[in-house]
Amino acid sequence: CGIIGYVGDQAALDVALNGLRRLEYRGYDSSGVAVVGAGALRTARRAGKLSNLEKLLAENPDSRPMPGTTGMGHTRWATHGGPTDANAHPHTDCTGAIAVIHNGIIENFAALRVELETVGHELASETDTEVVAHLLEVELAGTGTGTGTGAGAGAGADRGYDGGAHPLTVALRRVCRRLEGAFTLVVLHRDFPEVVVGARRNSPLVVGLGQGETFLASDVSAFIAHTREALEIGQDQVVEARRDGATVTDFGGQIIEGRRYHVDWDA
Ligand code: GLU
Repeated sequence: CGIIGYVGDQAALDVALNGLRRLEYRGYDSSGVAVVGAGALRTARRAGKLSNLEKLLAENPDSRPMPGTTGMGHTRWATHGGPTDANAHPHTDCTGAIAVIHNGIIENFAALRVELETVGHELASETDTEVVAHLLEVELAGTGTGTGTGAGAGAGADRGYDGGAHPLTVALRRVCRRLEGAFTLVVLHRDFPEVVVGARRNSPLVVGLGQGETFLASDVSAFIAHTREALEIGQDQVVEARRDGATVTDFGGQIIEGRRYHVDWDA
């Protein structure tokens, strides 16, 4: 329902929680956060109001503090799997290194889930979202099948191909090519605090460009307190956000010059 991602030099947990408060008006049934820092990926999530999550963060010594300046937050409006703690986002892969938040519906998740379970993945939720974390795990392990090498191999000579993309970005492009339905996705990796990567199809995603910090959000209101410089993300595009800016490509890796604009309404 609501999404905020962040990479910069502020405490990511605070940026994420503040962003989620700004997105609360949209309605939701659960919320969660993930932060990468000090060599760890930490997540916390709860069914119910944002205050339930805040209570958990205050009580749970494993999730407070969540040090780190790379992170994300999610408010969920359940479509697949009831509004429980286990179905709340972020969802992680088997290794706990990758975290995913998602708005929308992945129509072909059931087939993807069977495929993953056949090769030994254990899924912990009833959501359509969780398959994305496991598909990313497969891609990053280099055991991805099918569409994997295609666009990279052939497109190397192609002008405008983003050959310098981060491995997490490359993995997300490959995974997106396999997904059907509607999605805004934002992903984090324990070992890659330098990036937050997002993607969209039939669901909104916008980039906020700050000084030494970059935001990904479902709605500009999530980052308007920090920056008013925005970058539009089009249909079927992936964005790699770093402290110094963002690179946008299509799912095949062709660079897109996104439209930059200034958000001038009062928040
Ligand atoms: N389909 C996902 C779920 O049920 C995401 C829902 C949303 O957009 O918040 O968990």
